Amino acid sequence: MALEKPALRPFALKPDMAAAFSAEVVRWQQSHGRNSLPWQNTRDPYRVWLSEIMLQQTQVATVLDYYTRFLQRFPTVAALAAAEQDEVLALWSGLGYYSRARNLHRCAQDVVALHGGEFPRSALQLQTLSGIGRSTAAAISSFCFGERVAILDGNVKRVLTRVLGFSADLAESANEKALWQLATALLPEQDLSVAMPRYTQGLMDLGATVCTGRKPQCLLCPVQALCVGSASGAPESYPVKTKKLKRSAQALSLLWAQKPDGSVWLEKRPSAGIWGGLYCLPVFDSDAALQAVLPETLDGSLQALPHFLHVLTHKDLHLAPWIAGFGADQPLPEAMTSVSRSGAWFSAAAWPGLGLPAPIRKLLQDAPA
Ligand code: SF4
Repeated sequence: MALEKPALRPFALKPDMAAAFSAEVVRWQQSHGRNSLPWQNTRDPYRVWLSEIMLQQTQVATVLDYYTRFLQRFPTVAALAAAEQDEVLALWSGLGYYSRARNLHRCAQDVVALHGGEFPRSALQLQTLSGIGRSTAAAISSFCFGERVAILDGNVKRVLTRVLGFSADLAESANEKALWQLATALLPEQDLSVAMPRYTQGLMDLGATVCTGRKPQCLLCPVQALCVGSASGAPESYPVKTKKLKRSAQALSLLWAQKPDGSVWLEKRPSAGIWGGLYCLPVFDSDAALQAVLPETLDGSLQALPHFLHVLTHKDLHLAPWIAGFGADQPLPEAMTSVSRSGAWFSAAAWPGLGLPAPIRKLLQDAPA
């Protein structure tokens, strides 16, 4: 007989907790939070949206340059919508998680085509656009329109579970849902157009700078007096999430076909999977598979380059590059030009302008003499 799951105990907020918590976060953000990042002090949803997408899984310091370059090239959502996807991916190159860039482009096109070039003004409507999840939609609408909606990204989950002493396992969707409800109950109630942007930013700032994963700085924290995790002496034990990300490893061989003038053969990756939509050296499952597509005689030499490791979120890639010298007029083998592979020769001046995965760009830049 299957065992019944125990019913969830409802988690109740203490009286006055919400008002005290939101007031402290708002006050602290004003005096101690981050207030001069380039995407702050604006209520332009295009700029806020762009920063929110770039900041997903990426540090502020890394985003700064990309954000500025993106806005120089695409100052409006209409300019971004009108661009070629290749150009968007090229500007994104190095930021990683390339599905974000493809969704960003699609989202801009939808804003133009379906919403007359204006971002919707509610979190619910924003969530219908490509690449905008619940928390990102809430961040945009609270920053730009003062909407009373909760964000709940990884940093904010950490802060709230610690403050509340919320020890239910977030791997269970019912518990995650309960935390969303609590996050909503904690939101400011008044003066929303001013309080919501500050509160949302305050939670982000607390999670990034004070209530960090290891060694939270409780003595500097504006909500320490309210915090159950800090009082317990073990705030690091929150949040609780049992399912760990499963990491895997994959070995790939890379064919760096090069002509005497420095041209390189690059293929466009399929949009699904690793490095989707980017240009890349042809990828093979093994050295043998790579060598099998090469002509019996090459005009230049075939040389194995040192293997290297590239770490993705879910996967370790063990990369084995091979450099193959083709003659100026030597035809490419049919296996490399068949319909399943979409590639072309790119001159030494052209390839740096393409959207390339960061490890491939580095490999080509550090070309052996
Ligand atoms: Fe995090 Fe400590 Fe602040 Fe609690 S008191 S929210 S554990 S930094």
